[in-house]
Amino acid sequence: MVGQIMKQDAGEIGKKMMSRLYEQAQKYIPGGVNSPVRAFKAVGGEPLFIEKGRGSRIYDAEGHEYLDYVLSWGPLILGHSHPQVIRKVRESLEKGTSFGAPTCGETELARMIVEAVPGVDKIRLVNSGTEATMSAVRLARGYTGRDKIVKFEGCYHGHADYLLVKAGSGATTFGFPDSAGVPHDFTRNTILLPYNDMPAMQRVIKQNHSEIAAVIIEPVAGNMGVVLPRVGFLQKLREITEEYGIILIFDEVITGFRISYGGAQQSFGVIPDLTCLGKIIGGGLPVGAYGGKKEITDYLSPLGPVYQAGTLSGNPIAVAAGVQTLKLLSQPGIYEKIEERTRNLVESLRENARKLKVDMHINQIGSMFTLFFSSDEVYDYKSAKRSNEKKFALYFQGMLRRGIYLPCSQFETNFLSLVHTEEDIRKTIKANYETLRTLR
Ligand code: PMP
Repeated sequence: MVGQIMKQDAGEIGKKMMSRLYEQAQKYIPGGVNSPVRAFKAVGGEPLFIEKGRGSRIYDAEGHEYLDYVLSWGPLILGHSHPQVIRKVRESLEKGTSFGAPTCGETELARMIVEAVPGVDKIRLVNSGTEATMSAVRLARGYTGRDKIVKFEGCYHGHADYLLVKAGSGATTFGFPDSAGVPHDFTRNTILLPYNDMPAMQRVIKQNHSEIAAVIIEPVAGNMGVVLPRVGFLQKLREITEEYGIILIFDEVITGFRISYGGAQQSFGVIPDLTCLGKIIGGGLPVGAYGGKKEITDYLSPLGPVYQAGTLSGNPIAVAAGVQTLKLLSQPGIYEKIEERTRNLVESLRENARKLKVDMHINQIGSMFTLFFSSDEVYDYKSAKRSNEKKFALYFQGMLRRGIYLPCSQFETNFLSLVHTEEDIRKTIKANYETLRTLR
């Protein structure tokens, strides 16, 4: 493909290859990308076209090497092209690509998830995180017979109409859509709350409880940058939802098998009714999943009245990658190792900022972290928005020039993989120091 495009454009002498590829992509794909954040809009410049990935590195179409902290936005906790994952994918591929019928691999992946994630008795595989959250909300509505849902500002749960709401005027305002094409009617049943605001959460749930089917939350937010739940917040949410028979949905699409093998629910000891997963459980191939308490999941068709289906759901190749990934992650000491490496990195980044007197605040948990260009603590969407986005854009570009590929938005998460080495960390700390020095 790259070869073809280059040949076609051979006349455009002097133009950088990356710009040419982007131009070509824009001819055929809206904005040149298949997911908006990839377009580098928030940081300026043009996206890199990636040719391959190996371990902690990616290589663009011009052959430049980058140390990768995006890791496909989270799935690649084992790094790129892990040999054992690739082998399993190959073996699976040789047997066929899709059957639309049950396979033993699906049961295997489901069993591993059920054994790992405390709140999951049964799990249904789908193709993306969006499908998982959308289906979990439908299941919660079908189970409770109620219509309203509560979501938190700054939490992203995929692009289903009624979940694409982040900003309202005040805690009790019913949501307004974030995207054109979403009728207001579709978000009327979405109640928005500020993250980590315990009094607002208690007040609004008490006032509306008889109409609320579910509360959906990222137990650790990753979509306003990393934001941790305040002490007791998830526990309180669990108590109040339980009291009123409201389904508590943890969207662990990012945190599942990321901050611990059992996800945020294991780390914080708070067990939701339903859990959404994605990313890591597909080992870099398209998978999502939702599941939870048996009495709720048994409301799903063909057992119950809530319908959800998928031609490629439980795709054997994706499942093979997922099973192998979870097998490797289930070995002892894995999460301690990756967390320690991340903590060391983050400590050094903080030290750089202190030395250079740059206002910077880093939120970190497990192998996820975000640098905010702000001296304030970041605990919700509003405080995240106070971060200096212009500075972030300069920082992003500076790091990229030094061979470090970071998420191209302030409101995303950096991820470490198990194959990021001490040497990689040193390189990152050095690039960070040099880049911060230019920002003062
Ligand atoms: N939930 C969360 C917490 C996410 O971070 C994402 C995607 N980043 C989604 C849901 C949607 O997943 P997908 O992009 O696979 O549809």
